[in-house]
Amino acid sequence: MSKTFAINAGSSSLKYQLYDMPSEHVIAKGLVERIGIEDSVFTLKYGDGEKVELVQDIPDHGVAIDLLLSQLEEHKVIDSLDEIDGVGHRVVAGGEIFKESTVIDEQVVQHIEDLSEFAPLHNPAEAVVIRAMQEKLPNAKMVAVFDTSFHTSMPPVNYLYSLPYEYYTDFKARKYGAHGTSHKYVANRAAEIVGKDIKDLKIITCHLGNGASITAVDGGKSVDTSMGFTPLAGLQMGTRTGDIDASLIPFLMNKLGIKEVSEMIDIFNKKSGTLGVSGVSSDMRDVEEAAEAGNERAQLALDMFNSRVQKYIGQYIAVMNGVDIIVFTAGIGENSKETREAIIEGISWFGCELDTEKNNTRDEAIISKDGSKITVINIPTDEEREIARDVERLK
Ligand code: AMP
Repeated sequence: MSKTFAINAGSSSLKYQLYDMPSEHVIAKGLVERIGIEDSVFTLKYGDGEKVELVQDIPDHGVAIDLLLSQLEEHKVIDSLDEIDGVGHRVVAGGEIFKESTVIDEQVVQHIEDLSEFAPLHNPAEAVVIRAMQEKLPNAKMVAVFDTSFHTSMPPVNYLYSLPYEYYTDFKARKYGAHGTSHKYVANRAAEIVGKDIKDLKIITCHLGNGASITAVDGGKSVDTSMGFTPLAGLQMGTRTGDIDASLIPFLMNKLGIKEVSEMIDIFNKKSGTLGVSGVSSDMRDVEEAAEAGNERAQLALDMFNSRVQKYIGQYIAVMNGVDIIVFTAGIGENSKETREAIIEGISWFGCELDTEKNNTRDEAIISKDGSKITVINIPTDEEREIARDVERLK
């Protein structure tokens, strides 16, 4: 039987799902956390709710792969490694080179390493995982699925920054976006749900999770997206600033006595966003709870989050000169009916009416009123399944 891995390697973590293909049944899934840090945690879920959890030092991603494969065999999730004939690797930065998911050969791995400048925490780790998998599973087809591919259809008017043009031609300094696999998946699903050809639709996809981004999808193609050169730009996120004025960098470095720009960027990435404003947590559930209990900064963080989403929706209605469907997805988008309600309430002028009863869901559903000019749909994202499908297509 054919089995396909979807691997999502971060700087110190590795998420995985193992699918039986083509049925797309999930055989096993789990997470390796704190790679390269003491007391790494390995989890494996399989079968009828069986769960393995190991706490041990996992010094690098290569060791994480060794452990994962040996655990799958030990717990008889698979009889032999030969059963795994496909591996899809999520890769954060594909630059302008990778316009679609690509079968991996030596040159592709090399390109992924060369693109590390664009995703210094992710691409090097992803290249290590690809090489480790190639060694362990020499007969499996390896496919790289890039976060940026879906956005390579953006026109220059939307991907260029208003900088000296040579910075783009010489250094490729431009907007690349991210979360492409998710935006693509939910946009296509939305078209299926309304029973129309995606070519005839203008869709705004709101991926609202710990990382958050919004994309304008016109005729099935990404034409603009809120993340930028890196995933730091755009919306307010769990710990990331989203859009800010670059002049704040020298101003704050001076005030805080910070000497290295990288230290400042680290604060923008890890201590800002909903966490920084609320002072409570980066987790939306904690912030919602605190706001309900009367914490004003928590309420302010929620209001800022929602307001930025509304502003991007407004922008993208202008970018596409219209919109047929707005999609909500990812942790916050899928699960928080309050967030969806607050966002849609503020853009009702455009002809967007939420049905509060239909909105009371976490599942895939149209949540706008029947006569609403804009259809609003809740769609749980499934990036791993999309990765496995790409592998199957290219196998
Ligand atoms: P993700 O990055 O897609 O896994 O999303 C993580 C975010 O989703 C966190 O901020 C969670 O607090 C948020 N989230 C998950 N469930 C809910 C919920 N029921 N209400 C509000 N936020 C939620």
